[in-house]
Amino acid sequence: MRVPFNYLPYQFKSPKKYFIGWKKLIKSTQFTLGSYVEEFERSFAKFIGVKYCISTNNGTDALILSLKSLGVQKGDEVITVCNSFYATAGAIVACGAKPIFVDADKRYQIDINKIKKAITKKTKVILPVHWGGASPDMKKIMSIAQKHNLKVVEDACMGIGAKLYKKSPGTFGQVSAMSMHPLKSLNVMGDGGIVVTNSKKIANWCRRYRNHGMIDRDHISSWGVNMRLQPLQAVVANIELKKVKNIIKIRNKNAKILDKYLSKINGVSIPERKKNYIETFALYMGRFKKRDKLMSFLIKNKIEVKIHYPIPLHLQKASFKMGYRKGDFPESEKQAKELLTLPIHQYLTNKQLYFIIKKIKEFYK
Ligand SMILES: *Cc1c(COP(=O)(O)O)cnc(C)c1O
Repeated sequence: MRVPFNYLPYQFKSPKKYFIGWKKLIKSTQFTLGSYVEEFERSFAKFIGVKYCISTNNGTDALILSLKSLGVQKGDEVITVCNSFYATAGAIVACGAKPIFVDADKRYQIDINKIKKAITKKTKVILPVHWGGASPDMKKIMSIAQKHNLKVVEDACMGIGAKLYKKSPGTFGQVSAMSMHPLKSLNVMGDGGIVVTNSKKIANWCRRYRNHGMIDRDHISSWGVNMRLQPLQAVVANIELKKVKNIIKIRNKNAKILDKYLSKINGVSIPERKKNYIETFALYMGRFKKRDKLMSFLIKNKIEVKIHYPIPLHLQKASFKMGYRKGDFPESEKQAKELLTLPIHQYLTNKQLYFIIKKIKEFYK
């Protein structure tokens, strides 16, 4: 039995509805911004429960736009976690600021108890990540930020469709970023990103900076760039947004099955699932003893597993120049050697799920 990691061939198996949408778009020739992009921004804001949504080229741009909207610049420090995708740190550096890494906790989220120690006079923003589609305790992070007069930008790139304290990731901080890359719960046959905020001022600034700083055709308010979402992607986003709730429901059902059986296996450790948190399971991760051997074993059995990621951000070459060293964040370093991501997507059958469990049991016997 083959258990694929990639769900895109299933998701886009019948392309007819996209062609219908694109046909209308082509007729309208609204090829930059326009009504399809606006329709998506309105629906998405409603879906997440925020006042303003500004779509972008991709999640990385959404992060850069969010940070810039708060005035993050050269000389500033931004506190974030060392186990994330490159873009989290890359966006901070792209703004001229320095990423100040904090170790991960046992749920692979930013270790909230270590944030305070990372705050200096230069700190401007805390940038927590909803890693893998799970969430750090945003209420606690907001209260640390308020106490120290700091702003919060959430990297909710993997968090679309998740919930904590009955709210969506991205709705706690002043301004937050999300991604519609193929690996995320809402994905659009290419790149796409979103900035969300409840501040009219931030929303206006983002909307202008995204589009050359333009007030109208002949006037700009400040220098900006082009970070616009493509209308072709907006058409796909409008269709896919309607599926997100169901996708998350199925993934949670799948995760429950894996959790139940894997947590009983000696050598496997599944992170705590917080009560009243809904995860997106963009990544279903666990810690596995003899991870590399298990990985080869599973791949040999046609179960496609991945590692997110074998090298934490602070151990990348680019971080050495900033003064980071091996041993700085021991929890993340340990996790990087044991983490494995299993297929969890909404197209898996129960047979496939139980096959994963069976093979992992067999490995540890
Ligand atoms: C995917 C992702 C990004 C980057 O998003 P893109 O749309 O690929 O640019 C940033 N941060 C995290 C945590 C992500 O998962």
